[in-house]
Amino acid sequence: MGQTAKRKQIILKGIPASPGIAIGPVRLFRVPVAEPEPQHIPPSKVNSEIQKLHHSLDKARRYVEQSLEKAHVQYGDDLSGIIQIQLALLNDKLFLQEIEEVIQKELFNAAYATYVVFTSKKEKLLKSRSAYLRDRAADVSNLKWLILEILSGSVQPLRLNRPSIVVADDLSPADTVNLHQQKVLGIATNKGGVHSHTVIIARALSVPAVVGLETLTEKVRNGQQMILDGLEGVVVLQPEPDTLAEYERKRKQYLSHEASLMKISAREARTADNKRIFVMANIEFVDEVEHVKKVGADGIGLFRTEGIYIDRHILPTEDEQTKIYTRVAREMYPRPVVIRTIDIGGDKIFPHIFPAQEPNPFLGYRAIRFCLDHRDCFLSQLRAMLRANTLGNVSIMVPMVCSLDEVRRVRDLFEEAKNSLQKDGLPFGEDTLLGIMVEIPSVAAMAAEFAEEVDFFSIGTNDLVQYTLAVDRSNERVAYLYSHFHPAVLRLIENVVQAAQEKQIPVSMCGEMAGDPLAVPLLIAMGLDQFSAAHVMIPEIKNVIRQLRIEDCYALYDEIKQLKTTEEIRLTLRHFFTENVEGVTFQSIVKPKT
Ligand code: PEP
Ligand code: MG
Repeated sequence: MGQTAKRKQIILKGIPASPGIAIGPVRLFRVPVAEPEPQHIPPSKVNSEIQKLHHSLDKARRYVEQSLEKAHVQYGDDLSGIIQIQLALLNDKLFLQEIEEVIQKELFNAAYATYVVFTSKKEKLLKSRSAYLRDRAADVSNLKWLILEILSGSVQPLRLNRPSIVVADDLSPADTVNLHQQKVLGIATNKGGVHSHTVIIARALSVPAVVGLETLTEKVRNGQQMILDGLEGVVVLQPEPDTLAEYERKRKQYLSHEASLMKISAREARTADNKRIFVMANIEFVDEVEHVKKVGADGIGLFRTEGIYIDRHILPTEDEQTKIYTRVAREMYPRPVVIRTIDIGGDKIFPHIFPAQEPNPFLGYRAIRFCLDHRDCFLSQLRAMLRANTLGNVSIMVPMVCSLDEVRRVRDLFEEAKNSLQKDGLPFGEDTLLGIMVEIPSVAAMAAEFAEEVDFFSIGTNDLVQYTLAVDRSNERVAYLYSHFHPAVLRLIENVVQAAQEKQIPVSMCGEMAGDPLAVPLLIAMGLDQFSAAHVMIPEIKNVIRQLRIEDCYALYDEIKQLKTTEEIRLTLRHFFTENVEGVTFQSIVKPKT
């Protein structure tokens, strides 16, 4: 096609991840770069390559400062120590000199020179006897990739100077510190499964998103106009005027529908036959609390604390954490707040804190497995959460438990944290409840035994589905297999709810299934009356609850229990919605196998 020829519109189908429609310019973010090949340059190019290197280091410095600034605004703590550590690496003159020498003497381009010098530095650190120095290897590696990305032009320190749709290969939790509070119109990524953390974060940011678009980054350019339909999982590049008009209409319709749901969202949710259902919110960022209150959530059913650890070189102190948790507890009071201890690992990699790379991260050193090995880090979280519970509305929840032995070890540490607070004379919530996420099939199968030893359950379907079906939740290639409507998953959930009811402990659901309108009648029929979902989903979930009758939910569930495949179950649910529920714009859709 000639340069001046009109480009045709391109339509790509992915996975609808967060509701809404965005129309705007593309901003490419962190398209991954390959390891650079050795590339020689003529002597005449030495100076320009050195200049390029300096430019990229300056940009990297600004990037680091910017993300730390954001973390500072978000968490309001003193991060000057961390800034110094990061900047020291970027300002190390000897280090810079080494890279320059590779350009000058060996006549390699800036990218390759950066690559070899950083890699050799990283390897030296990894061999060090000091654990502190070994940990710094991850910092060096991170900076290396940041500089290489800048040199290749694939990363611009993400400051959106106009509202844009962020397009990336993938987004890590760390990237979100930079996306947070920016003019993000929407998010579209090559990678990502139905319930990857990109999806969770997009919902936390209240922006429409489509993931699993596979080759999107190869097809777009910065500044190009794009339509992103987070309801259907569609992206349109270079839209034709008719398509644009159609989506403008669809966007307006969606916004007015959303506004009408918002008007009544603050009211409590009751079924048409008056059964009260509690609808709480999941949060990632402290400032989401404002939205959580606006949509009339009955509390916070899951406060993911990983955000506090992102982009940090040293662990947050107990006092810092206490401040953050107390702020959320106070703002939500008297509504309950469930704070979860850190779920590091899996796709939530924090290279600064835990640099190890694992062959199967989702089956590896994740969450409570990490915490039980890092007693001090865990105790400081537990102490901070206990201290935040002076008003009595905070509960503590532990993720990724797989055995009763872990529960007992957590209980011991929980008691140790309380005793130490008592000794230190610090006020804390003595009656704080300690619950677990049910997100590993072993726990769901033995729910009755676990219910004897914990204060509450919260069902984490995002992981429960991935571990029951052996389907990586963040891998778009197997996304067609990922569904919370698989009959085996439904049986496990029912077992958990029943066990909790028999042992009389509270049970809620905080996995994304609780935010899927299609799942609501099924979960109510199982006896679940506490849901916790992304705040963007709450008006829609309440809208569904208000139209349901318990008897109809039971009848639907009886029918569904006879079905043996996910697809039959989904079709039956769709049919039920056509007959019984109006105004549902977003529901989980499984990406068809391509
Ligand atoms: C879950 O697994 O359902 C859950 C809520 O936890 P996360 O998504 O943080 O793994
Ligand atoms: Mg989980």
